[in-house]
Amino acid sequence: MEYTVKCSKCGKEDWDNTSWKCECGAPYNIILEEKFYVNRIERKNYSLWRYKKFYPYIKDSIVTLGEGFTPIIKVEDNLWFKLDFLMPTGSYKDRGSSILVSGIIENLKGINCVSEDSSGNAGASIAAYCARAALKAKIFVPENASGPKLFQIKKYGAEVYTVKGKREDVSAAAQNVKDSLYVGHSWHPYFKDGIRTLAYEIAEQMDWKTFDNIFLPVSAGTLLLGVIAGFIHLLDSGIIDKMPKIIACQTSQVSPLYHKLKGGKYIKPEKILSVADALITTNPPLLEEMYNMMKKIDGDAEIVNENEIIQAHTILAKKGVYVEPSSAVAYAAYLKRLKEKNLSEKENVLIILTGSGLKSAL
Ligand SMILES: [Zn+2]
Repeated sequence: MEYTVKCSKCGKEDWDNTSWKCECGAPYNIILEEKFYVNRIERKNYSLWRYKKFYPYIKDSIVTLGEGFTPIIKVEDNLWFKLDFLMPTGSYKDRGSSILVSGIIENLKGINCVSEDSSGNAGASIAAYCARAALKAKIFVPENASGPKLFQIKKYGAEVYTVKGKREDVSAAAQNVKDSLYVGHSWHPYFKDGIRTLAYEIAEQMDWKTFDNIFLPVSAGTLLLGVIAGFIHLLDSGIIDKMPKIIACQTSQVSPLYHKLKGGKYIKPEKILSVADALITTNPPLLEEMYNMMKKIDGDAEIVNENEIIQAHTILAKKGVYVEPSSAVAYAAYLKRLKEKNLSEKENVLIILTGSGLKSAL
């Protein structure tokens, strides 16, 4: 067998490919049984589909908008940026959506409608790939959702449903649509599995040498877990010789992983009032899994405040790099560590920049 689908908590392997969580309540994960081989990369394909051989559940039905293989640029002596906001819909989420929608078209023949809860980049990304595949998308959003990302979702032709109440109520509405497959980006194993292409690209673009440190923003956890999964696969396959130090970056308002790792209790604010408006998951379903993986790889976490985020966002723009404020959180955390001398200037650093500034209000 080339791969298995396992519950992340109880280890059951009974996924029927229409359920989005295990009976025990935890999400499923795809576990590859095969090693990574450099000579299996399709080198003439300049999208994430150059790694198609490492997606054994997708053979023929590729749904693509040309996503992936985004540039890495060197900005200072020991500092690089991965420009993962240069994607068809303006965020790294297209990695998950392309694999998700391709996986559905290939393996779930009767499905013609999916549902998702997100008024942000994930909603826009899934709406775009559904449009590409002529799948109907029902996107559930909180009643106060607004702005360019919502326009984008609607323009792709998704049906948008506004839900009153808490964030959990929006999720519950999306999870209970009749005749529709729930593809919540924190939950669906195909979506999460698409993110590991990011680690493959980073390693390949640097000629299989690993960065000392990688800073990335963390909210729901799909980016963090996908990047870790990709690097573990490369390490276990003998392609790279060490795991980069992964630094999970959060805002001081939304920092459940930071607090779990550092040992403090996280108290969520009454209302989140942050410029980093894509980092809003105060109670992520993947928290336990993130914690366990970060312990396993000896990862680290950092938090930044509003001033630090706004400053970092401006400094990035003055370097010619216009991202959304939520993406500047990773750069803000890097600057904080340098300032506090928690990072040696000799160590090299990659910052993953995840979302375009063109659809944010700042
Ligand atoms: Zn389970």
